[in-house]
Amino acid sequence: MKLYDNMIDVTMEALSHSQGKRVAGSSVSAWKCLDNSEFIMQRDAGLELGGAPEPSVNYTCVSTSGKVTEDEILVYGRDISEITGGCGFARVVVLETEDLGEEADTEKAFQAIRNLEFVRYHVFPEGYMVRVSSQSNQEQVRISREALKKGISFASVGAAYIAKYKAVEGVKNVRIIFITESDLVKEILPNADKVDAITKTLTHILDGMPTDCGHCSMKPVCDEVEGMKELHLGKKH
Ligand code: SF4
Repeated sequence: MKLYDNMIDVTMEALSHSQGKRVAGSSVSAWKCLDNSEFIMQRDAGLELGGAPEPSVNYTCVSTSGKVTEDEILVYGRDISEITGGCGFARVVVLETEDLGEEADTEKAFQAIRNLEFVRYHVFPEGYMVRVSSQSNQEQVRISREALKKGISFASVGAAYIAKYKAVEGVKNVRIIFITESDLVKEILPNADKVDAITKTLTHILDGMPTDCGHCSMKPVCDEVEGMKELHLGKKH
């Protein structure tokens, strides 16, 4: 799976101009998670991340190219304990997986993608309420005063995400990136639509759409993303 590799490179290139903090996933305890989403009322909120008019974005890239060699959490901008008011927010996930079998075993690849999408929206750290808009790829977070008091950090929340992703079969290593610098969030914001287009095209291909490039609405994506045409046209044979 190399379809997202360019988007991973573009993201990391944008981040390379800023000073980030790296925490190894193995060195931090995961923040306690709940089984279901929790509603934090405004009066109990200590912080809001990515709330309008600040920018916010969320996207996930999958690779088998050795882009993530160990579990890690990267933080660009202020960590939770340093934030005093509203700020931009991005959460980007890069997953290193075993071959999803997309060329040989459609059902396996489909299931793997479904499982990864499920995790994307089903991690519920205590005192950390995530509101997502899958339409616009925005993600806003409300953190309770209680969680702030207990010392919640991006490292501990990131470790909770890592644990959930590692529970999915085939996931080898996970990089969770949190960004609270609004300018940097704005810079990577357009990547989310491109990643979305790749995921949608891949899903359509796995769904068995006809191989007729001349009449296909996915053509702009396939012209741009290395490996997509080969994946689809190769499947035909
Ligand atoms: S390879 Fe051709 S038919 Fe298949 S999704 Fe891409 S443009 Fe469409």
